[in-house]
Amino acid sequence: MKAAILAVGDELLGGRCLDTNSHWLCDHLSHHGVTVVETRSVGDDQARIVTALRSLSSTADLVIMTGGLGPTQDDLTREAVAEFAGQDLVVDGSALEWITTFFRERDMTMGDAQKRIAMRPEHATCHRNGVGTAPSIRMSIGGGDLWLLPGPPAEMHDAWDSHVSTWLQQASGGQPATPAVTIKAFGLIEAELEARLGDLTRRDHRPQLGTRVSQDEFLLHVEPVGVDDAGYQACVADVEARLQPYVFGRQAETLSDVVGAALLARGESLVTAESCTGGGIGSCIVDVAGSSQWFRGGWITYSNEMKQEFLGVPAGLLEEHGAVSEPVVAAMAEGAARQSGAQWALAVSGIAGPGGGTADKPVGTVWMACHGPTGVTSRRFRLGADRSRIRMRTVKMALQVLRWRLRDIDPMTPTSWDAT
Ligand code: ATP
Repeated sequence: MKAAILAVGDELLGGRCLDTNSHWLCDHLSHHGVTVVETRSVGDDQARIVTALRSLSSTADLVIMTGGLGPTQDDLTREAVAEFAGQDLVVDGSALEWITTFFRERDMTMGDAQKRIAMRPEHATCHRNGVGTAPSIRMSIGGGDLWLLPGPPAEMHDAWDSHVSTWLQQASGGQPATPAVTIKAFGLIEAELEARLGDLTRRDHRPQLGTRVSQDEFLLHVEPVGVDDAGYQACVADVEARLQPYVFGRQAETLSDVVGAALLARGESLVTAESCTGGGIGSCIVDVAGSSQWFRGGWITYSNEMKQEFLGVPAGLLEEHGAVSEPVVAAMAEGAARQSGAQWALAVSGIAGPGGGTADKPVGTVWMACHGPTGVTSRRFRLGADRSRIRMRTVKMALQVLRWRLRDIDPMTPTSWDAT
């Protein structure tokens, strides 16, 4: 099935509102195995809406519109669709009842304007809005289908969950569609990624593979189109195998999620000793609900005094090697594990810049240590020159190294940011 999305509203074109609805719908349609061939935005102008509908319905089997279903004069989606379909607008009895109940339950007075939102083209159906008032509307257009959904995102999401996704499932013969998989990888260089994926990235390869980078993570979207379910699953497995050991998860999974799941399965816990990240690792970890089951807490030991006082790092080590050094991060990790009794400890110390770099230890130099039941492993990275990116990469790299150790993968696996 090919879909097109039409977002309606002057606010979208005037730069006052970002069209998040189309983005959200593209994502959700892809999880149903539907390919979005076009998205378009148009203002509150009946003639332009009709023109856009004519064009989109000629290229897509399914058109989803959002916005312009409200009670105000500039809400013209209903009228435009009736004109496009050559149908009259009629009052939908059930919709009028839902809206009347909505107002009565809130002790609000319903005016004539509100009654307008109970109208639909005569051969369309209304579907209840579980959050607000304007019902969604569905109708057949030529050989395809059209859905009109309310503009406010919460109402649109509710309409999707309550009506559209069920309808899509039925429209595909009751077969659950193959959900699209996004594979997430961190730590390898882009050129290496391309080399490993090879022929899989050809534009004519089916299933098609889309690659993008977000916050230094590679997101590989495998489109479930042009191949049967078995072929699709085989391709997903192939992509994951080619990118090991950098692949850490799928869909919305984070490095903290997978590290947490591994620690929980082992019945072990983690502590952190952070310098340059200032608590960033701990913060990412506690984003995970239930992390208290495996994360005990951590120290932000920014100064040398704190490293000595709370983690027992010997003054001699700091004097001889400096705070950003292998012996010091190893001592930080060991100290954190010793003080807490946790089986695992992550320690980081680096130069996030913009000042403080030397020829020996330029900005971006980060030492990282991971203490575990079999001992401490430490390694040095060069994580760029921008302070916030250095700190973000340090957090992710530390979690990736921990993930490798938890899975018995070499913690010295080469990465794009190895310091030579
Ligand atoms: P209402 O009954 O609230 O008028 P409606 O279906 O007429 O619903 P609009 O009036 O077009 O929707 O939009 C209402 C609000 O919803 C907008 O002011 C905006 O905040 C949000 N909105 C509309 N379209 C989008 C969109 N495409 N992406 C994100 N937000 C949107």
